[in-house]
Amino acid sequence: MSLSPFPCAPSSSVRVAAAVRHAVATGLLGESGPVAGFVDTDGVRDSVAALHEAFAGVPGVLHTFAAKAASLVPVLRLLAECGMGCEVASPGELRIALDAGFAPSRIVLDSPAKTREEIRRALALGVALNADNLDEVDRIASLRPSNAASVVGLRVNPQVGGGSIGAMSTATATSKFGVALRDPGARERVVEAFAAHPWLTRLHAHVGSQGCSLELIAAGIGETYRLAEEINTLLGRRQITGLDIGGGLPVNFADDEVRPTFAAYAAALRAAVPGLFDGRYELVTEFGRSLLAKNGFIGALVEYTKDAGGRRIALTHAGAQTATRTVFMPDAWPLRVGAFDSDGLPKAGPSLVQDIAGPCCFAGDVVAHARELPELREGDYVVLYDTGAYYFSTPWAYNSLPRPAVYGFRTEAGPDGPSVRFAAVRDAQSLDSISTESGLAHADALLHFPS
Ligand SMILES: *Cc1c(COP(=O)(O)O)cnc(C)c1O
Repeated sequence: MSLSPFPCAPSSSVRVAAAVRHAVATGLLGESGPVAGFVDTDGVRDSVAALHEAFAGVPGVLHTFAAKAASLVPVLRLLAECGMGCEVASPGELRIALDAGFAPSRIVLDSPAKTREEIRRALALGVALNADNLDEVDRIASLRPSNAASVVGLRVNPQVGGGSIGAMSTATATSKFGVALRDPGARERVVEAFAAHPWLTRLHAHVGSQGCSLELIAAGIGETYRLAEEINTLLGRRQITGLDIGGGLPVNFADDEVRPTFAAYAAALRAAVPGLFDGRYELVTEFGRSLLAKNGFIGALVEYTKDAGGRRIALTHAGAQTATRTVFMPDAWPLRVGAFDSDGLPKAGPSLVQDIAGPCCFAGDVVAHARELPELREGDYVVLYDTGAYYFSTPWAYNSLPRPAVYGFRTEAGPDGPSVRFAAVRDAQSLDSISTESGLAHADALLHFPS
């Protein structure tokens, strides 16, 4: 038994349950807000701390957060406050990273199709860039002022193979990303580029996202490390001073456990590439999903239930507009679903096989097929767990459905159970905004073409 005078901090699942109950009690979830995303800010802080801890003692590490995993200014600002940098891949992501308060020197731009304008802007700001290919290196060379502060790297594809989800595997033989290192003549061309451009000082590899094993990721980083050693040896100088090892740590969507951990990842890297952590290279990481997925959930109202062909179907407000990947690739992106009653309390009772469907007008809009859950009824709620990354932050505008509201929450242990405080992160999209984004300002455009 704990002798501490303070009650234990609530666990992650207790915090989520408390947040659901309070969101329903306060009306954040309900008739006027039938679907919303929630971010557990204590969980985010803990995840960032675990990442820093895993690399503690390694000199010169910049941990950046992949902005696409949670492209919300308040979330990015929280991450900046926790000591993260930011990885961006478009002018929009660069803009929100700057608005969130990341210093340009802590931002890395990685898009595979940077325009000249984007390159000029990144160089003017002093943002680090990783060129995707050797033509882009030439473009950067022609645009780069001699006093540019930006660190410039080159992305390579170590071609170590794919993981279990093809669309997430970036180190296959034919991946669109980086210079394909095993192709004939590629290594030589890379060496020539470094020889020609002394300001090219970094190698970058992002081996893949969800579905790639630690061993596969470590193998890709090992290839990249050995290329850096080879280039520095051939050039007779330590020109490559940094390695950007990307993100891609997979997330366990099956239960509450964080698995694999950042510590396990660091151990796998240390075993596969012993020289990586000795301080000769500045390291950059770019994690997204593994920092946010388990620190967010979607809550949605059950509007109706029905039976069809012997199957019970719950018609909810969480569908493809907020769980896009899960709806289109249900086998690759299964989500755990929780059943809550109209007071936001976990439902008990015998389980029933049910489909959890969304509000979109196409038949495939189902976030969970034939799931055994306590019987859902009108006015209940479903919770989609582990959706803090790439789900509510990246909605899809199908059916002119609004972007759902997003709230941050904090829980504190109290004598009567945890208390919860909410803060708005993003308002639900208004009908005015939907119409504006649907070309309202040009309403007559197709009736009268300018002469
Ligand atoms: C998407 C992406 C990441 C983040 O991947 P996660 O799987 O979310 O960690 C990092 N780097 C690059 C270049 C990416 O495209």
